[in-house]
Amino acid sequence: MAAFVPVPDILTQPYWDGCKNHVITVQQCQSCGRKRHRPAAGCHWCGGQGVDWVQLSGRGSLYTYTVVHRAFHPSLAEEVPYVVGLVAAEEDPTVRFHTRILACDPADVQVGMSLKVLFQEEPDGTVLPYWRPSAA
Ligand SMILES: [Zn+2]
Repeated sequence: MAAFVPVPDILTQPYWDGCKNHVITVQQCQSCGRKRHRPAAGCHWCGGQGVDWVQLSGRGSLYTYTVVHRAFHPSLAEEVPYVVGLVAAEEDPTVRFHTRILACDPADVQVGMSLKVLFQEEPDGTVLPYWRPSAA
């Protein structure tokens, strides 16, 4: 399905390793304890440099979304309309994931709906995290 697969780097490798094991992991600041996503070299809350990686439940809610009717890349042309959303993690709604919402008719998508992560393996072995309604 994916037109593009990520290229992990020193900051994102633990996140992608977690996905490969079907677990959502995020950075947690050793100074202030705040969690964050996307991975970053420093804490955007306090500037702390120390970091731990912690697992999340893979549950969240839809913060906002858009329905894409015109594919931005030819490889996605057969998938329109599809939903691109911003998912807030259950453990901390300031931790958010840009993603596609799958297994849901775009007409049924609503802000605030409960979601759970859905891992899908791509042909090259990369595991990508998508999200779907938790009731589906
Ligand atoms: Zn911090």
